[in-house]
Amino acid sequence: MSISLEQVSKHYDGAAAISDVSADIADGEFFVLLGPSGSGKSTLLRAIAGLTTIDRGRIVLHGRDVTHVSAREREVGIVFQNYALFKHMSVADNIEFALRARGVRAAERRRRREELLELVALPGLGERLPAELSGGQQQRVAVARALAHEPRVLLLDEPFGALDARIREDLRRAIRQIQRTVGITAILVTHDQEEAFTMADRIGVMDRGRLQETDEPRVLYSRPRTRFVATFLGAANVLLGRHEQEGVRIGHSLFEPSPFGRPSRGAEATVVIRPEDLALGQGEAVVGAEPLGRGKVEGLEFVGVLERVRLSVAASTALASAQHPDAKQFLLEASRSAREAELAPLQTGQNVSIGVKRVHVLPTPIGSLRMLAASSERIEQLAASPVIRELAARMHVRPVGRVVDGDAPIDVLGGLPVVEIERDQGLAAPMRLLEIGAHQVLGIADSRRPIDRLLIYVQPTRSAREAALGAAATLLRHLAVDATLLVPAHQRRSLGGSSYRDLLDLRHSALRGYGVDVRTESFDGLLAEAIRNRAHGERATLLLLGVTSNASARGLLEELGPALALDPPAAALIVRGTSVSGAEGASIPYVRQPAAASAFR
Ligand code: ADP
Ligand code: MG
Repeated sequence: MSISLEQVSKHYDGAAAISDVSADIADGEFFVLLGPSGSGKSTLLRAIAGLTTIDRGRIVLHGRDVTHVSAREREVGIVFQNYALFKHMSVADNIEFALRARGVRAAERRRRREELLELVALPGLGERLPAELSGGQQQRVAVARALAHEPRVLLLDEPFGALDARIREDLRRAIRQIQRTVGITAILVTHDQEEAFTMADRIGVMDRGRLQETDEPRVLYSRPRTRFVATFLGAANVLLGRHEQEGVRIGHSLFEPSPFGRPSRGAEATVVIRPEDLALGQGEAVVGAEPLGRGKVEGLEFVGVLERVRLSVAASTALASAQHPDAKQFLLEASRSAREAELAPLQTGQNVSIGVKRVHVLPTPIGSLRMLAASSERIEQLAASPVIRELAARMHVRPVGRVVDGDAPIDVLGGLPVVEIERDQGLAAPMRLLEIGAHQVLGIADSRRPIDRLLIYVQPTRSAREAALGAAATLLRHLAVDATLLVPAHQRRSLGGSSYRDLLDLRHSALRGYGVDVRTESFDGLLAEAIRNRAHGERATLLLLGVTSNASARGLLEELGPALALDPPAAALIVRGTSVSGAEGASIPYVRQPAAASAFR
């Protein structure tokens, strides 16, 4: 491995610039860090270069722990966006700079400089001053300068930022070629999606200091695991479908096989459909696609290679907007090739059949946030609590509310129900919702403080573990918190039972399966004590309990006892093992259309 990052964190003035970033980058790989501005890309790059210290974690370059090694001794070359070259020095002197500093003899410097000018396709320009070169040429010189001392890692921070489109494209190709020729491991930082796609072997997508997902460009585009990556990389319709016994229902079609083991019936499925995966027909059905429903053309936009079509669609229990879960009508974006548009022209206002060629189900168990309270004021209070506000903003969902009245039956199957935890009542209110069929419930005791820590306890079964990790992954990606997983010391020691071994593997499987990192802490004695000791202090804690069944949940709450009732953590999320889980997002090219579905057409 060329570069290994282990739980690297860095704070500025108490705010996390990077949080628990772990990644492995192979020898000779071209790795791109992609993310919006302020997401921590440059901080991470500077940390790797040794230009900034880190608070926690380890940085290993070629097997050597360099966490506390100076920049000079790390054998990295770095290219920045603007801080390009020493203006008053010739190109030759710029390139030789690092060699001179390392005491390399003049003859050797000259040889190396000529070689590098050749490599970056600027032979014979050594005597020029930077001002006498174009921007693209200056960046080539900057690359040559970064490579002069033969580093083993090349780091590039938005090196194309200041250049115009045409030159940028040339330089991208040139840099990729140089990197291949030299065989050096490279990390490029950019906020430009196209740049990332065209250059990367693999992309790591950053948001809010976290590495959200890492994979090959095609995989990230077609099978993202998170809403953020799905919508950051290109256009996406994010919809709510429904898990049913036989598969995932989206609009009028049932998609099989179910991507997630044994999903609970009625659980919400968060579904991503790319505009190009929708198909439109003027008749009753769309040939070659599964039926989604009908819609009305609201807008058409011809952009040369394709036509964008905006459609309004009526929501149903198996087809709703993930952004506005309770909207009666919502918009879908479709695109067609220019050729298709020419063969079957559409008009604004026209009604069409909508078919779908491919759907992708995200592994998150949290599709929508549903406040349940006795009055609309209470609902608003819940929705205004920092944890809900932050989740809603980061997930791009509007929280929805329902006034519930005593014991009247309510449909709590879909989404994440949110209730108030009253002092003295402990987790009784969330428990009640589990009893009537919810697979997960978020209780909020303190609706003023933002959450800054996630404390996780999981009953030792696989189903509880998977459900808890799925929920934890979603929370961690959207809240600025660290996560600690509590493991009883006796479980750590008794390696006999396989479920205990599973528990020990929790951190590993969280990282592998869900791409998020959690810390583990073991405790002796009572669980209630362990939680209380950690959950009550300066920091507002969200307690995440993964339970196997309602019966085991009742047992656990009894064990946690009155202590938790009198002094509850700021929030508690209980997830039950039978809920939807699955590490990988599942992509379902259209499969079978069951007989029942045709009744809807
Ligand atoms: P990116 O490169 O993705 O745009 P940065 O790594 O530059 O993001 O910044 C990440 C966060 O850290 C931002 O909130 C930024 O304001 C903060 N930050 C970066 N450098 C410093 C610094 N030297 N002092 C204080 N805050 C900083
Ligand atoms: Mg930056």
